[in-house]
Amino acid sequence: MTFEAERAAARDVDVADIADAIESIGFECTRCGHCCRGLGEAEHTATVFPDEIREIQREGADNWRDVARPMPFGLSETDGEPTTGETFEWALQTDACGDCTFYDDENEACSIYDRRPLICRTYPFSLSIEDEGDGTTSPMGSVVDRAGPVHAHECEGLGRDISREDAEELAATLKRRAIREREEAIGVRDNYEPRDVDGVVVHDSEGQKRPDGTPISE
Ligand code: SF4
Repeated sequence: MTFEAERAAARDVDVADIADAIESIGFECTRCGHCCRGLGEAEHTATVFPDEIREIQREGADNWRDVARPMPFGLSETDGEPTTGETFEWALQTDACGDCTFYDDENEACSIYDRRPLICRTYPFSLSIEDEGDGTTSPMGSVVDRAGPVHAHECEGLGRDISREDAEELAATLKRRAIREREEAIGVRDNYEPRDVDGVVVHDSEGQKRPDGTPISE
């Protein structure tokens, strides 16, 4: 299925069907912080789109690197810092422990809650819009439950009662995320240009950038 066909399929999914599925699986956030932390040796890796990075920067005045880092897959590193290679997309920045830099340990809460990216707003669910699909392409842990078009990933809050109102709000956001992911994939594909430059190159839907978010020009 092309990205365009997937986007069309995502647009066609009925929010009420997604809400039904979420209700049947059940979910309530326990504020355990599990989804905001790295797992064992693995650093936290959650996709954040360029416009979401700017939204997080908008009020906090953080620079790009304070918000996001190049998605680490396929990059060479020295002392934990990526030094060379090409990658696609951005991940939320992490702290020295490998946790999301925006997780506030003391208050056990997200410090940018109102500006958090779509992937955070919809955890632990993803929308499967292909017959054999595995839901989101972003790493979210194993699929542990399914209902209708919804996949549920590992989370201790699953199985808890959720109100219809909350299920519908979550369903609408999940649909928005599924469409947005395909739009981003289309942008990455259409704007891909090989770049013969030293260091790290990040390809996103807006073109090619340095790890600090600076566009690489011809
Ligand atoms: S942005 Fe907020 S909700 Fe998302 S992983 Fe970081 S702390 Fe958690």
